Amino acid sequence: MKTVDDCIFCKIIEGKIPSEFVYEDDLVCAFKDLNPLAPVHILIVPKHHYADILDDVDADTLSALVHAAHEIAAHYKLEHGLRLVTNKGDDAGQSVHHLHIHLLGAAPLSNSFGKA
Ligand code: 5GP
Ligand code: ZN
Repeated sequence: MKTVDDCIFCKIIEGKIPSEFVYEDDLVCAFKDLNPLAPVHILIVPKHHYADILDDVDADTLSALVHAAHEIAAHYKLEHGLRLVTNKGDDAGQSVHHLHIHLLGAAPLSNSFGKA
C-alpha cells in the first residue's frame, strides 16, 4: 500500500489525522467532506495513494470504490438518486491529489458540471 508523506488523505487513512470513517474495507475507506456541497457528501478514497482515477488504478480497487458507493447509498437511504464525481487535474479543479470519488445526495443537485 503506497502512501505519500505530505498527502492529507494518506494522513487520514493512516489515522494521523483523526477522522470518522462512514465505510471501510481492505482497499478503500470513506469519510465526510470537510466542506459539504450536499446534505450527504462523502469522499470514497482508496487506501493506496493513486494521484487520480487515471493513475493505473487496479481493477480490485476500482471495484471496491463502486462497492463502497453501493454501501454508502444504502446506509444513507439515497433511493432518490445520488451523484458520483471524480476530478482529475487543474481544469477539473482537483485540489487533493489522492484519488477520491465524491458521493453527493439527499437533495436535488444542481446541474453545474461544465465550463467555469
Ligand atoms: P477535489 O477538489 O480535489 O475534487 O476535492 C477535494 C475535497 O476534499 C474538497 O471537497 C474538500 O472539501 C475536501 N477536503 C480537503 N481537505 C480535507 C480534509 O482534511 N478532510 C476532509 N474530510 N475533507 C477534506
Ligand atoms: Zn495520498
